[in-house]
Amino acid sequence: MRKTALLLSATLVLSIFTCLISCKDKSGNITEYQIDAKFDGKVLTATQTVDYYNDTETAIEKLEFNLYGNAYRKDAKYSPVSIHTVAQSYPDGISYGDMQINQVMVSGEKAEFLVEGKDLNLLTVELGKEIFPEERVLVDIDFTLNLANVVSRTGINRHTVNLGNFYPILCARNQNGFYECNYYSVGDPFFSDCANYQVTLTTNSDYTVATSGKRISVLEQGGKVTQTYKINNARSFAMVLSKEFECITDNSTGTEINYYYYKDDNPIKSMEYAVKSMNYFEKTFGEYVYETYSVVQTGFVQGGMEYPALVMINGDLEAGAYGEVIVHETAHQWWQVAVGNNEIEYGFLDEGLAEYSVVLFFENHPEYGMKRENLVEVSEKTFKSFCTVYDKLFGAVNTSMLRSLKDFSGEYEYVNIAYIKPCIMYEYLRKTAGEERFFKGLKKYYEQYKFKNAEPYDVVGVFEKVGADANGYFDTFYTGKEII
Ligand SMILES: [Zn+2]
Repeated sequence: MRKTALLLSATLVLSIFTCLISCKDKSGNITEYQIDAKFDGKVLTATQTVDYYNDTETAIEKLEFNLYGNAYRKDAKYSPVSIHTVAQSYPDGISYGDMQINQVMVSGEKAEFLVEGKDLNLLTVELGKEIFPEERVLVDIDFTLNLANVVSRTGINRHTVNLGNFYPILCARNQNGFYECNYYSVGDPFFSDCANYQVTLTTNSDYTVATSGKRISVLEQGGKVTQTYKINNARSFAMVLSKEFECITDNSTGTEINYYYYKDDNPIKSMEYAVKSMNYFEKTFGEYVYETYSVVQTGFVQGGMEYPALVMINGDLEAGAYGEVIVHETAHQWWQVAVGNNEIEYGFLDEGLAEYSVVLFFENHPEYGMKRENLVEVSEKTFKSFCTVYDKLFGAVNTSMLRSLKDFSGEYEYVNIAYIKPCIMYEYLRKTAGEERFFKGLKKYYEQYKFKNAEPYDVVGVFEKVGADANGYFDTFYTGKEII
C-alpha cells in the first residue's frame, strides 16, 4: 500500500515516495480456484471451487480460509477503517457489510463448517479425512458478499466498486499451520500462498470490469455480460468495477498494460508512469510474471493498493503524487506480489523495497526532476524528525523493524519504520556493497523467491551470497541499533 502520511510529506517537500508463504511454480502442483460470481450492484453471490493441493509435508484434516469481508461488520473487533479515517472512508454515512457462508461441500458432499476466529474472520472446513502430502481435495463454497458503502479495499464508493479480498481466501500455511489474518487498520494485513485462478463474473452490461486476470471469454445477453478471466501463480484475485471507466491500453513492453480511469486530464501521462516503471523494473529486477497489468483509478483512502496484476490508485491524489503512487504500486509486482511475505509480521520487507524502487526509478528517469540524493535526504529528515517526536513523547524511540502490525501505535509510526527506514537501509547498503553487488543481489532475491514467501533473513542470505558483508548490517537495522 502507499500510505497517506507519506503522501502528505511528499506534497510538502516536492517529493518523497509514494502493499502473502510458499507458492509453487510447478504446474499441476498448485491449488486451483474457480469462482463463478454474480454482482447486482450491491451484493455479490458466488460459488467457489477450491481444488486444494497439499504442498506441505504433513497430512491435513481441515482447511482454513480468511473471510476479510466480515471485517466490515457493524460490531467488528478488527475494522479496516481506523478511527482517524472514518470521515474519509464513509463520506455518505456509516455503512456495513459482511460475508455469509451459505453451504460447503467436500468432494461433492455437504460438509461441516464453522465461521470462527478472533472476529468471525475464519472459515474452517472439516475435510472428514486426511489429505496427505501431494494429494488433492475439492471444496465448494457458496457465499454471499454484502458490500458496505465504504472507501476501502472491499466496498462501494462514489465512482467504483472495489473487490479486493472478495472471496474466502485460503490462509497461508507456515510451520504452525494455517495463519489467521486479523484485519488491522494499519498496514496491509494479508498473507496467502500462490494459486491458479479462473474467475467468471456476471454483471449488468454497463459496468466496465478491471481484474487481476486475462479475459478469456465474454458473453453479452439481455443487458448482462458474463466474462471469464484467468491468472496463474497469484496470491489473490482482485476486481474493480465502474460505470464511468475509460480504458487505454499499451502493449509496448510485451505486457498488456491497461489504465482504467474516470477522471484524468492526462491519461497518457499516467500510463507513461506505468509503462516506464514496468520497463525499468523488468530490466533492473527481472521479468514481470503475468500477461496483463491493470492500473486502476478508484476510490481509496491511502495512496494505492497492490494485488497480483492489478493496482488500485487513489483517484483524489494530486498529479505529482499520483504518478509516484503508480510507480510504488508497480514496484510491488516484484516485491509482495511475486516475492511474497507475511505482511502482518514483516510488512517492511515489501514496503521498504517498493519505496527504494521508487528512488531507483526517479534516479533513472531525470525527466521527472527528482534526484536520488534529494529523495534520500527527505527520507533521512523525515525519519530523524519521527525519532525526535517519539523521543520527546515517550522518552525513547523503538526503531525495531521486526514487529507485527499489532505493535504499531498508528500510521505515522508504521510509515517511518516499514517504509522510510528500510528505504534508507537499502540506500546505505548500496553505498557499502557497491553498485554491482547491490543490483546483483536484488536480481538474485527476485529470482530465488519469486512465487515463494521470504522471511527477513532470506534477503540477508542473498546479499551475503553475492559478496556483500550483509549479516551484521541488516541485523543492526532490523533490531533498531542503526544510526541514521
Ligand atoms: Zn506499498
